Amino acid sequence: DLAISARDLRKVYAGGKTALHGVSLDVPRGSMFALLGPNGAGKSTFINILAGLIHKTSGSVAIWGRDLDRRQRDARLAIGIVPQELVLDPFFTPREALELQAGFYGVPKAERRTMELLRAVGLDDKADSYARTLSGGMRRRLLVAKAMVHNPPVLVLDEPTAGVDIELRRKLWDYVRELNAAGTTVVLTTHYLEEAEQLCDRIAIINRGRLIACDRREVLLSQL
Ligand code: ADP
Ligand code: ADP
Repeated sequence: DLAISARDLRKVYAGGKTALHGVSLDVPRGSMFALLGPNGAGKSTFINILAGLIHKTSGSVAIWGRDLDRRQRDARLAIGIVPQELVLDPFFTPREALELQAGFYGVPKAERRTMELLRAVGLDDKADSYARTLSGGMRRRLLVAKAMVHNPPVLVLDEPTAGVDIELRRKLWDYVRELNAAGTTVVLTTHYLEEAEQLCDRIAIINRGRLIACDRREVLLSQL
């Protein structure tokens, strides 16, 4: 069974730009998967389709075996997305942001893990500080916690370490590795080969909206 399966995925933006030219891609369950490619390759387009933020032009996508067209709600519940931009309401605290997110996903109050999640990302001492007082690194970690609120089997991070310093990059990697070791399938997009090869057991290379290669890390690196 697959965590994510895309078939012939195409995206043509309103202006006529084709961002994905029929991408077929399988992410095995349990893997740590990198979608690697330069700026403009189509990585965010792919992620935004998974996230339901934009519509695909054609093709199909299934998340955790749930077709995005036919079982949209079930597919959504199977995935948590960490966006590239540090989008947070500045007047909510981390605790409030997580409670609100849990509400969106219909997580019953008794099953919420707000403080546990904040502890996991090292933000428990900031639980009641306004988001506008948090540093960039803290905001990134809050977004990861938000994405995990409904305990999805798949976590997707769009360029999680872009513009993030070395120190925090390591911490983020450690946390993501822990999640993966605990069973979460992790997909991240990156334009750093280093990040893909140090972190991920599978790598897909995408360029100009086309899948160039997709294989286990060892196989792929031996071909470079
Ligand atoms: P990446 O995330 O790999 O940098 P994107 O998915 O953001 O790539 O972009 C892929 C291509 O689609 C680029 O050529 C980009 O300019 C174009 N693109 C992205 N978003 C839009 C949009 N909303 N409208 C038109 N073109 C877009
Ligand atoms: P900034 O947000 O200013 O970039 P950092 O995010 O690098 O700062 O780290 C702030 C503090 O939070 C550090 O002292 C570190 O120990 C802790 N921390 C950072 N990331 C994690 C994490 N994933 N899990 C637990 N603690 C973390």
